[in-house]
Amino acid sequence: MTSLDRKHLYIGGEWVAPDSAETIAVENPATEEVLAHVPAGTAADVDRAVAAARAAFASWSVSPDRFVHLDRLHTALSARAGDIARTVGLELGTPLKIAKAVQAGLPLTVLRSYADLSLPGPETVGNSLIEREPIGVVGAITPWNYPLHQVVAKVAAALAAGCTVVLKPSELTPLVAFLLVDAAAEAELPPGVLNVVTGTGPVVGAAIAGHPDVDMVSFTGSTATGRAITHAAADRIAKVALELGGKSANVILEDADLVRAVKVGVGNAYLNSGQTCTAWTRMLVHQSHYDEAVALAAKTAGGYTVGDPFDESTRLGPLASAAQRDRVLGFISRASARQVAGDSPVPEKGYFVAPTVFADVDPGSELAQEEIFGPVLSIIPFASDDEAVAIANNSKYGLAGGVWGSEERALSVARRMRTGQVDINGGAFNPRAPFGGYKQSGVGRELGEHGLAEFQQVKAIQR
Ligand code: NAD
Repeated sequence: MTSLDRKHLYIGGEWVAPDSAETIAVENPATEEVLAHVPAGTAADVDRAVAAARAAFASWSVSPDRFVHLDRLHTALSARAGDIARTVGLELGTPLKIAKAVQAGLPLTVLRSYADLSLPGPETVGNSLIEREPIGVVGAITPWNYPLHQVVAKVAAALAAGCTVVLKPSELTPLVAFLLVDAAAEAELPPGVLNVVTGTGPVVGAAIAGHPDVDMVSFTGSTATGRAITHAAADRIAKVALELGGKSANVILEDADLVRAVKVGVGNAYLNSGQTCTAWTRMLVHQSHYDEAVALAAKTAGGYTVGDPFDESTRLGPLASAAQRDRVLGFISRASARQVAGDSPVPEKGYFVAPTVFADVDPGSELAQEEIFGPVLSIIPFASDDEAVAIANNSKYGLAGGVWGSEERALSVARRMRTGQVDINGGAFNPRAPFGGYKQSGVGRELGEHGLAEFQQVKAIQR
């Protein structure tokens, strides 16, 4: 038992005893110690949560006060910003500075953007009145890498649309989701609007995905699990929205600001120890600057301090779990490209991996094709813009990307990249811009108006 233990599930606006006495141990990946235990939910818990969400849908779907509630939720969650950063620092190992800015800052920004949104009225097209209605009860299943952001991106949009939610956070990082529930309870969100059942993917996640009364499943995680969820939802033709993996390209053109492009590119690839679905893990560099870029990337990587997430000087924390660390080390040991960084000192205890850079990576190799989800950057040369586009698009994924160079040329390359988001010259994050994948990176979009629209049905009434 620890002081961070959570013993109850949140269903119908109340903390309720779980169906089973079984628990899941949550580990601190920087120390390998057990941090807390949370309930291992069951299919019966999911049934109760879905029934509560269904009961709440009737009034929430037509409530004029939804945005007032979201505003209150934002206030209650903002008051917990310090706690959120600390919790993600403990359960995921994100260095505190980044945890504050990203793990706590990002979900608050996204929640604010939804609280500020106003829904457009019905549209008139000819003799038709086109109305948007909430889709119903949403099952939300989320991963561990941005454990609150990924929850809020779904919950805030679904609630704004008028849906009610049954949430299953990742079993590796469930603690921060409880802080959202604490905030929801304090903000007096109506009972049943947000329900949380912790547990494993094969038990609770599968029960949500296959539940006959869940109208839509919104999932973020691996492509393999996204496929399983799509199969489970297909039997009843339920809608799925999927945010999956990525292998994004950062294209550095001949006329780029090389130093900035490489430094920002390395930082992007290593954000959250590389456990970022949008990470620019393939750095594509014009041959005229290639050697300089490789040397600079290696030097930048070597300058990242790896260690205790709660130490101010730490830039890279551990990976989320022993399994994730071993998976990443497997990719590194199998790689045949030229390794130019990767021998920085790392603590013995904890799931740390040194920041690693490979140069001369074959664009078709495992290193360049598979999502590694660790601090591993691959550098690939190209000779022309056309070749850069071809290499960038040589991927089963298409989630994000970067282009560096003169604005017009970079824009032309960005338009030809088969990917859901592209940042030109380090373009700043926009919480209202649609986010999502082409190809095996997913289906649907999150954030902003497009993210909200995922949770709506469209009805046409002819007059
Ligand atoms: P994962 O697919 O193993 O797990 C994600 C969630 O699905 C967890 O809550 C898990 O319990 C649940 N789950 C597992 N098996 C299930 C099943 N059979 N039925 C229903 N639910 C199930 O992914 P992960 O290891 O938590 O996260 C890492 C992966 O997620 C990476 O591949 C990464 O690229 C991807 N990811 C994508 C995005 C995005 O927005 N595109 C964001 C973050 C992570």
